[in-house]
Amino acid sequence: MVVKNIESETLAEHWISHRLADGRESVFFADPGSTLPQQINDERELDPRGEPGELRFDRLTGDWVAVAAHRQSRTYLPPKDQCPLCPSVGARHSEIPAEEFDVVVFENRFPSLGPALGRVPAPAADGTLPEQPLSAVGRCEVVVFTSDHAGSFGSLTDDRARTVVDAWAHRTRELSAMEGIEQVFIFENRGQDIGVTLHHPHGQIYAYPYVTPTAKKIAEQAREYYAQTQKTLLGQILESEIEDGSRIVARGEHFTVFVPYAARWPLEAHLVPHRHVPDFAALNKEEKDELAIMYRDLLRRFDGLYDTPTPYIAAWHQAPINEADRAATRLHLQLTSPRRAADKLKFLAGSEAAMGAFINDITPEQTAARLREVSL
Ligand SMILES: [Zn+2]
Repeated sequence: MVVKNIESETLAEHWISHRLADGRESVFFADPGSTLPQQINDERELDPRGEPGELRFDRLTGDWVAVAAHRQSRTYLPPKDQCPLCPSVGARHSEIPAEEFDVVVFENRFPSLGPALGRVPAPAADGTLPEQPLSAVGRCEVVVFTSDHAGSFGSLTDDRARTVVDAWAHRTRELSAMEGIEQVFIFENRGQDIGVTLHHPHGQIYAYPYVTPTAKKIAEQAREYYAQTQKTLLGQILESEIEDGSRIVARGEHFTVFVPYAARWPLEAHLVPHRHVPDFAALNKEEKDELAIMYRDLLRRFDGLYDTPTPYIAAWHQAPINEADRAATRLHLQLTSPRRAADKLKFLAGSEAAMGAFINDITPEQTAARLREVSL
């Protein structure tokens, strides 16, 4: 067991690393002033971990596709007494072998990528690869925000939201250093309408052995702009949004929230740092303090729009792990929801699903005004 208690300008963390019965890593994080669990002991007898799925290269589009047939058997909307993310109490053993905890991150038992790590060769110019299919290497982790089965990130306390931000920074740093990892993606799917399979408040982290199509596109735009101007594209976009003002939702000292000019979704907001930081690991203490609260409050705004919780996808875009992209691509949140009215969802149909060409029925300026009006 590894115990670390680090205090520094960029990292104020209180965490402990542990291995589950089948060898998966799990890391416990404690709130400020709180303590880590005294006893962490996974008493379950678990089957050995399976082999990774397949990684297939789509020559038609130049994208990778992970094929993970073993995921079909994963836990689907279990009742509360069988929740794998609640604490282990008495004879009831969950994925978290402690009676109480604040925040826990652990390797997914049914990963799309991993458990093995390794390098994925770049395709040759004609699209051929040395060997097909490849093993779907990489790592998938689950981030549990609270031991409380109910609630959501939006209902967390200030301290807890801050601890989750520390956990994200910690995992970004650790995963970025692992063999073959090219991109670390932190996200949360919230709501059954989005396809959530566990109700317990949690998010996920995918550490990919390649740069995903969307990240590649964003990085290319940013790199081109940087080469021409020596400025970061998102920094310039932020400046124009602030100057225009009509789509701003909230402003802080270190971050600003706005609905993007060309929002794709009926509900979409971006949370952008004022300073150029490529990822969570590069944030300083003051930035993390503010980010935790501004992000939590943005989720509260989404939930405040209607009488029932708003389904959303919270996607944290971090720069791919290479020097050129880190200089040009800035960390930001893209929070989206398909909800276009109290009882209506937007589905991705022909134009969006097949062509990636979005049509939005609601103007970003209307969305920004509605989000600003929500009282927190
Ligand atoms: Zn639970």
